[in-house]
Amino acid sequence: MGMEVLNREQLLNEGVVAKFLRYVQVDSPSGEGEGVPSTPEQWQMARLLEAELRELGLRDVRVDSHGIVTATLPGNVPGAPVIGLLAHYDTYPGTPGRGVRPIVHRQYAGGPIHLPAGPVLSPEEQPALLQCVGHDLITSDGSTLLGADDKAGVAEIMEILCRLLRNPDWPRGDLRVAFTPDEETGRGVRHFDVAGFGAVAAYTFDGSGLGEVECENFNALNLRVTIAGRSAHTGTARGKMINALHLVAEFIGAIPAHMRPETTSGYEGFIHPDEIQGNVEAVSLTVLLRDFTEEGLSRKRAIVEGLLAGLEQRYPGCRTRVEVTGGYRNMKPVLDQHPRVVELALQAVREAGLEPVQKPIRGGTDGAVLTEMGLPTPNLFTGGMNYHSRTEWVSVQWMEKAVEVGLRLVALWAREGAA
Ligand SMILES: [Zn+2]
Repeated sequence: MGMEVLNREQLLNEGVVAKFLRYVQVDSPSGEGEGVPSTPEQWQMARLLEAELRELGLRDVRVDSHGIVTATLPGNVPGAPVIGLLAHYDTYPGTPGRGVRPIVHRQYAGGPIHLPAGPVLSPEEQPALLQCVGHDLITSDGSTLLGADDKAGVAEIMEILCRLLRNPDWPRGDLRVAFTPDEETGRGVRHFDVAGFGAVAAYTFDGSGLGEVECENFNALNLRVTIAGRSAHTGTARGKMINALHLVAEFIGAIPAHMRPETTSGYEGFIHPDEIQGNVEAVSLTVLLRDFTEEGLSRKRAIVEGLLAGLEQRYPGCRTRVEVTGGYRNMKPVLDQHPRVVELALQAVREAGLEPVQKPIRGGTDGAVLTEMGLPTPNLFTGGMNYHSRTEWVSVQWMEKAVEVGLRLVALWAREGAA
């Protein structure tokens, strides 16, 4: 597909919906590759956004070697704090995400929406649809995801820039924007140059329903657990064999039933065996630990280690090992030290005529990683719903509200500088 870049006038005036419809038709799933970006296709989005930012005349337009796109919109309030707006342009790799054909459903009347490829989007499964009767909704044709996660966020930030360019008197400090790859693999933003970005605070537009301001998420620890037994010929195994498969069955069976993703919600954490491979000799499995507090996470790790120590005691000769392969932290303790970052987001949402919705995220966000890296970064709604599925959908009216919240947030931060 030849990538023609619209001219400045077209970009300034097309609106958030046209931007969104263009971006979702550019394939950019993340994937299995070792590097960042993990798929070559993601470069298409990086290059397109770079070209559009240049066409709009932004400053410091840059794409680094990992596909992280950054730019500056100079402010008009001297001394105002520099803030950042971020969205990720990769899409979820676990659902077909290439060749997205978006469909705009004007003035949703309520009831089920039958997508051409078969899936049905219904208020029974998506009660939030009932808040959107009369809205214009966008879905895929049902054969792929839509990619509102997170191209809704990308389109909204690009539209915020366009509105600010069209309204030069709207108060703003220097505004930094960043579009990042590989959020879905959790790796892209690890390469983010926080010092070079130079913002005091940032916001990801990567949430979901109307009014969401997300400031807390799981602490996460991903473990690789190895249980090694001892192999022997089955005919003469008596007294010799230690079957690692039986040991791992005991281990998994002993994980408390009330500490599983399928039995927890809200602020409850979990211990989750996620993937396994092995044989009599050795089994290796991935175990995900999640908890909103550091102490809770440590307790879960202690449970895992206690179960493994128990195996070693009961089956002399077996060996167990735990390696940490990844994780992230709850952003809340850091954000609590920077209360204005959250307060101004809540105020922007209220000024847009909405009631802020604050829920703990039972997962991580790029903002959690950035916050850990020193850039306080709560997460704001985009208006996209039912992410990672073929019945993903977005309300046009909610996208417009996300743009409005962003504009109000920019003005609120400009006032912080004048104070
Ligand atoms: Zn996302």
